[in-house]
Amino acid sequence: MSSGDKREEEDNDRFPDGALRLRNPHISEMEQDILYHLALGSGSHDLQEMFSDVRFVCMGGTPKRMEQFAYYIMDEIGYKLPAGTTLLDISFQSYRYSMYKVGPVLCFSHGMGIPSVGILLHEVIKLMYHAKCRDPIFFRLGTCGGIGIEGGNLVISESAVDGLLQPYLELPVLGQMQRRPAVLDRQLAHDLKNLRREDDPFTVTVGKTMCTYDFYEGQGRLDGAFCDYTEEDKLAFLRKIHAENVVNMEMESLCFAALCHHAGVRGAVVCVTLLNRLHGDQVSTPKEVLNKWQEYPQMLVARYIKKALGLPVAVPQRSHPQV
Ligand code: URA
Repeated sequence: MSSGDKREEEDNDRFPDGALRLRNPHISEMEQDILYHLALGSGSHDLQEMFSDVRFVCMGGTPKRMEQFAYYIMDEIGYKLPAGTTLLDISFQSYRYSMYKVGPVLCFSHGMGIPSVGILLHEVIKLMYHAKCRDPIFFRLGTCGGIGIEGGNLVISESAVDGLLQPYLELPVLGQMQRRPAVLDRQLAHDLKNLRREDDPFTVTVGKTMCTYDFYEGQGRLDGAFCDYTEEDKLAFLRKIHAENVVNMEMESLCFAALCHHAGVRGAVVCVTLLNRLHGDQVSTPKEVLNKWQEYPQMLVARYIKKALGLPVAVPQRSHPQV
């Protein structure tokens, strides 16, 4: 795409002040829009008052991890809660996703898999629209299986493919298969990679991510409840996709990339590898080590946010156990 085409596409996605345009003519005609899974609504809440200052949307699988990230980013950006207040899960009444707001950073849990992250993204994109947030950047901070990369290292997705190596999300809509390209922002991916420090305990690889509909057979594991292939079949498949520059596997990036791209939102997927799939299937690393590893995507994204906010980027002092 030429830079002129890109600019035109961005202009269609945004109002001149950077607020998102929605690619859905029905929403502006509705009396109110209920964001059901977030327990928010444009009629029941002043979404602009609550969220218009949001610049970064960070999402990850579990409520606990995203609550921890909210406290971590609060420390990192030096955000002070007003006296007598505390961080609260804004969506607690939905019993679906969790949501924490720390100044310009909004943190969500997205659950597991494409359907879960897809429903959340519809509502978060609409939230950004109702709140008139300007040029928000979306991050997914996750875990993955590395292909040729040992556990405890970071992968930033340059793009996502499905289990057939197709670079788009397929969704049946009104009985027709709709395809949305799973494109991520390459500049953002490289800016994130450049935030790695020499003394970091992890490497950072930028490459293609295979996003599957399943953790077991969908990712060629031998340890699911069912398996109709051999270890040789599995390794031949992993080597084949590795030769196509697929460096990790997870279960959300295809939808995240496709919906961010369709909405005209810059998005990045930063995942820590839990194991090297060329060497096994079971996640057998001790829990305390896995917990430490899951801080690594947070460290890189926090550095990006601090830099974008004009804050000094110092490497946080954390201890890093080795397996
Ligand atoms: N998440 C996945 O989807 N696969 C893995 O192997 C590890 C984490």
